[in-house]
Amino acid sequence: MTDPYTAALPDTDALRILAAKSLNRCGAEPPAEGDSGDLVCRTPVTGGTLFFLPCAGPDQIDSAVTTAHATFSTWRTTPAPQRGRLVKRLGELLVEHKGDLADLITLEAGKIRSEALGEVQEMIDICDFAVGLSRQLYGRTMPSERPGHRLTECWHPLGVVGVVSAFNFPVAVWAWNTAVALVCGDTVVWKPSERTPLTAVACDALLARAAADTGMPAGVHQLVLGDRATGERLVDDARVALVSATGSVRMGREVAPRVAARFGRCVLELGGNNGAVVAPSADLDLAVRGIVFSAAGTAGQRCTTLRRLIVHEDVADQLVDMIVHACHRLPVGDPFAAATLVGPLIDAQAYEAMTQALERARADGGKLLTGGEPRLRDEAPQARYVTPAVVRMPTQTEIVRAETFAPILYVLTYRTFEEAIVLHNDVPQGLSSSIFTRDQREAERFLAVDGSDCGIANVNIGTSGAEIGGAFGGEKATGGGRESGSDAWRAYMRRATNTVNYSAELPLAQGVAFL
Ligand code: NAD
Repeated sequence: MTDPYTAALPDTDALRILAAKSLNRCGAEPPAEGDSGDLVCRTPVTGGTLFFLPCAGPDQIDSAVTTAHATFSTWRTTPAPQRGRLVKRLGELLVEHKGDLADLITLEAGKIRSEALGEVQEMIDICDFAVGLSRQLYGRTMPSERPGHRLTECWHPLGVVGVVSAFNFPVAVWAWNTAVALVCGDTVVWKPSERTPLTAVACDALLARAAADTGMPAGVHQLVLGDRATGERLVDDARVALVSATGSVRMGREVAPRVAARFGRCVLELGGNNGAVVAPSADLDLAVRGIVFSAAGTAGQRCTTLRRLIVHEDVADQLVDMIVHACHRLPVGDPFAAATLVGPLIDAQAYEAMTQALERARADGGKLLTGGEPRLRDEAPQARYVTPAVVRMPTQTEIVRAETFAPILYVLTYRTFEEAIVLHNDVPQGLSSSIFTRDQREAERFLAVDGSDCGIANVNIGTSGAEIGGAFGGEKATGGGRESGSDAWRAYMRRATNTVNYSAELPLAQGVAFL
């Protein structure tokens, strides 16, 4: 720890100790200075360096997969409700350490306190869900066409699940995958984002503690720290039955063919470019709150961030004025400060990407209505704070169709509902969407088969802030994966169809006669 800002945060002590202990558990002390090849662990709050952590080399990745693979042979035969006990204990430990873990998320990902606490709550919620699931991994019984036969489906554990995660939900996405995979009887190897390794070390330590407390094998979960090359090695390992990868579309384009080439399975949770339609009948006060939270929350760094506002021309000027006014009042700054609503961008590259996107938008005829200004903090010159931008665009140009991972809201207008749907769907990504309207016909049409083409479609709420109970994921370039609630667990298991003949005859299906 070399950063004076973090040294002044007593609440993170517990997790720092936990993180350090966990490093010891892996046989590695955090070095005072980094060696070449070490991960440099930074905080976006100050831009300063926190830790140097050793990257997992090829031998460590291989050993992590070997352990997870070996543990799978006993874990898969442990009854699912017993597997649930491990996840239940993990949930209890998350409750116990909620505040400390939230501090670590703020420190490492720059989320404001309320959102960091929300992320930990999401982990607790998915643990609850998975514990219930451990008694509900239902298969179907179908009527057999043959007399004296029983036809059923049975779900079995799949194997080792490789989890590759992004910086912006450093731990919730891990929990979605891990809690569900563990009750399904899989073991997990986690490659977290190179930009958020500390939260990963803390979660790994909590899971190890949960395993010790419940007498379950610690080998069910393995952590490999590293960058893209570490991820590639994990993805290429044929013993990894399922790769659940969360990150940019670019990453998905690389991962998907590699996994397919070895006939592995993928759950892809990739970038979004989420739109909201605002109809003339909308409750504008309500819409503004939903829009500003979705567009500026997490400093525009959610996969579900609202990036495109498609508003009816009759209410466009009024709504845009209200949004600009609300954005002006958003406190941008230190995410540890109670009043702050918009924290830092993750790093200088993110700021560069935002600046370039705004320049492109202006060159395309866009008018910047507010935001895009750096907010410098004297005590943190390396950090990148920026005011959320709102840009009115004449048309949906290429820059609008691309995901820039920063707080930019492009505003487009429409005349007819059909035009709004065409504009809305005319982007490569298909994650989240919403409509603000009091017209029930419009709302239903937005949700219908020829309405929004996204994995998530909402009415009168914004595009971000999903609950764990539903399946989460998106279509098109977002990758088609589903995680979290509903029946997303099926991706973590393999299905066997069983036919049992309990008669003394041997009738063949489709009436085929033989012998
Ligand atoms: P990123 O693609 O840069 O990295 C994500 C993870 O993939 C990291 O752990 C990285 O090391 C790893 N990685 C990168 N290239 C790889 C490769 N070729 N092989 C194996 N692993 C590789 O993404 P990021 O900047 O950390 O996160 C932001 C992006 O993630 C945004 O596009 C956002 O929309 C997306 N995201 C999507 C979801 C979702 O559920 N759909 C959730 C969170 C974030």
